[in-house]
Amino acid sequence: MVSRRRFLAAGAALGAARCFGQSTPDLLPTSGGRRVVIVGGGWGGLTAARHLRRLAPELEVLLIDRDTAFRSLPLSNSWLVDRTPDALVQQDYATAARAWGYRALRAEVTAIDRERRRLHTAQGALGYDWLILAAGIRHDYGPWLGGDARAIEATRRLYPAGFLANELDALKQKLADFRGGDLLMTVPPPPLRCPPAPYERAVMIAWLLKTRRIKGRLVLVDAGGGMQRFNRMFAERYKDQVLHLTHAPVKSIDPFNKTLSTEFDELKFDDAIIIPPQQAADLVRQAGLVEADAAGTPGGWAAFDPLHLHAIGDERVFLVGDLLGRASPLFGHYPKSAHMAARLGRIAAAEIAARSRGTLPQPQLPESVCHVYTDIEPPEMMRIDAQYRVRGDGLITQTVRQHEDPQPRGEEVVWAKGLLAEMLVPN
Ligand SMILES: Cc1cc2nc3c(=O)[nH]c(=O)nc-3n(C[C@H](O)[C@H](O)[C@H](O)COP(=O)(O)OP(=O)(O)OC[C@H]3O[C@@H](n4cnc5c(N)ncnc54)[C@H](O)[C@@H]3O)c2cc1C
Repeated sequence: MVSRRRFLAAGAALGAARCFGQSTPDLLPTSGGRRVVIVGGGWGGLTAARHLRRLAPELEVLLIDRDTAFRSLPLSNSWLVDRTPDALVQQDYATAARAWGYRALRAEVTAIDRERRRLHTAQGALGYDWLILAAGIRHDYGPWLGGDARAIEATRRLYPAGFLANELDALKQKLADFRGGDLLMTVPPPPLRCPPAPYERAVMIAWLLKTRRIKGRLVLVDAGGGMQRFNRMFAERYKDQVLHLTHAPVKSIDPFNKTLSTEFDELKFDDAIIIPPQQAADLVRQAGLVEADAAGTPGGWAAFDPLHLHAIGDERVFLVGDLLGRASPLFGHYPKSAHMAARLGRIAAAEIAARSRGTLPQPQLPESVCHVYTDIEPPEMMRIDAQYRVRGDGLITQTVRQHEDPQPRGEEVVWAKGLLAEMLVPN
């Protein structure tokens, strides 16, 4: 049950902040000390909030999210097909804030005025001494739907991606209602959060079709070549349930006539899960924090200092989680995983705690562990570990190892519990 009582009342009388200005009233007066505001209560933001309280108890910590409760995307795929009904971890922000001793505010942050160190929300503005931006991703329907707002709204509503926590219920209902025909699912080009997640979900859906004897198939329209382990699974165990079209980048979608075009095909579908290309959350663009290519063209992700996590040219703003751009020219982006976001949140907390005392901490590097089901009954899993180190020339290198586990014993649950214990309150 979500309790709203601990959320700080966002005074409606303060009015909307439409433009920057010192006259915008303060939504929350500071408690007199220095304030760290964290925007985004996902894996990155929640972990940062908890560790900041531990490392710098003298700082005021305020976590802002547009929702009232955290919901976990990891472990959601098996929950979608009712395989693990209790797997979806949820907790209201008020409970976590009370337990760890920070404040939580429900608000949509609409703009960041970095010059004045102020955030704007629909309810009013707020000052900060340090800001952690951990706002995750946005869906970028533009490449497939152009600027057609009606088509974008229809696609979002009728064919939810299930890659944002607030899309999970609609997707679960869609799968429960599916009675047959072609269910189409897109796999967008990288970078995307948890790259094996679409394939894990495809296995779950294939299993659902097979065990419920539904006369239908999943048509997986994949911008890339897939992942070897899953490709084998689709071809061998689920050949009647999955049609995997590889190297088939989407050109356009008509959500009203239920058609999708690739370079080679025009596909008609009965229902769909449209996972569009991804970018950093909107605030990154609004705050002028996007990275640019060599020609100066802005990209979709946040530019950051890879050794200290602050924004380029602004050491009062720290960037954490899936919204990050390239960490190194040697491998590109860090994996967009919950484990990585949590570790980055912890590092950002240590950076701010040290800086608040006038010192510069030694750079710390994160790591990532990702558990994915490659089949469900009997269960088989794969674990992907990524480790990092700084080379002599100062660049970060990555080592990735993939392990197959034909007899998992709940390792993913133990993994999740370990990370969740750093950010939520055990039930
Ligand atoms: C199906 C699926 C399965 C996955 N499985 C795994 C797995 O097994 N292991 C793993 O490690 N990772 C997994 N991931 C990836 C993982 O979920 C993400 O990497 C992780 O959520 C990133 O955390 P984050 O803190 O960067 O962003 P998020 O968790 O998305 O949090 C961002 C928060 O910011 C808030 N926000 C955004 N904009 C605003 C605003 N303007 N104002 C206020 N609030 C705002 C949002 O409401 C949200 O709560 C999976 C992802 C998916 C989709």
